[in-house]
Amino acid sequence: MGGLFAGTSLERPVTCPRCELPLAKCRCPRDAKGEIKLPKDQSPRVRREKRRGKVVTVISGLDPKAADLAAMLKALRSSLGAGGTLTDDNELEIQGDHRDRLVKHLQELGYSAKASGG
Ligand SMILES: [Zn+2]
Repeated sequence: MGGLFAGTSLERPVTCPRCELPLAKCRCPRDAKGEIKLPKDQSPRVRREKRRGKVVTVISGLDPKAADLAAMLKALRSSLGAGGTLTDDNELEIQGDHRDRLVKHLQELGYSAKASGG
């Protein structure tokens, strides 16, 4: 690591290796450690579960920060017209059976999403 920035001028802003913008302007998705985590690097699983006799669709395996789960939940709730919540385990729980639709939606966003369970 030590030699990586050797010779870098102090006046030159540190840039993002991916988008090459100064880090202050970079909008690349990053995890809590500040490392770039693109949708294709995440492999969410979408499964159905029963909650008190009702079906919910659960998305697990997304990075809560890089995927911006809070914003994703809001968008999904309005596009599906369904209730939903973000659990303590960073899983998105959407009311109703939307598994296949959510797998397709996540894939369209670039995630390596797969359906799991029955
Ligand atoms: Zn960037």
